[in-house]
Amino acid sequence: MKRWIMDYICCPECKGSLCLLESEGDETEVLKGTLTCTKCERVYSIEEGIADLLPDNQR
Ligand SMILES: [Zn+2]
Repeated sequence: MKRWIMDYICCPECKGSLCLLESEGDETEVLKGTLTCTKCERVYSIEEGIADLLPDNQR
């Protein structure tokens, strides 16, 4: 997931802002980590550079 995307994404459930917790990545990309919604506290995972931002009903 490219870092600049953080400026454009929000929680698919409540549109709250997401907090990035990164465990692996480089200068431009986050490869592994989690995105936590600061509003509803849902957690979305980032695996192999792909953020899983599907709402609950599409999982
Ligand atoms: Zn949310």
